[in-house]
Amino acid sequence: MAGEPQADCLFCKIVAGDVPATVVRETATTVAFRDIHPQAPTHVLVIPRVHYPDAASLAAAEPQVAADVLAEAGAVAAAEKADATGYRIVFNTGSGAGQTVFHAHAHLLGGRGLNWPPG
Ligand code: C5P
Repeated sequence: MAGEPQADCLFCKIVAGDVPATVVRETATTVAFRDIHPQAPTHVLVIPRVHYPDAASLAAAEPQVAADVLAEAGAVAAAEKADATGYRIVFNTGSGAGQTVFHAHAHLLGGRGLNWPPG
């Protein structure tokens, strides 16, 4: 069923507590944890507890949860004081755009200057 945990999904395992992660914030609908390969002083992933392969499919099926992910990214930025210098919220979508984990997730990047356009 849509949104149900997937046995082969790494981020579903993090939600379940079966794979360790450095969790910084949790809500009823989201989990935020530090990326294991940080690309900036602040690099936190915000994921929905429900499983959808990417941000657009999450937003189409459960728009409130997609809004929760965005709100949590902002809350993490504020908690990390990344909002003082500016930050970026990224949803890589599709392998051609660098998506490697097919469970919707927002990258929250901050704490350094960020170039535009991204590579
Ligand atoms: O957008 P993309 O799918 O490439 O992002 C997945 C991210 O998940 C990567 O930045 C990777 O470093 C991170 N990751 C993690 N913890 C894991 C496995 C991957 O933070 N156990």
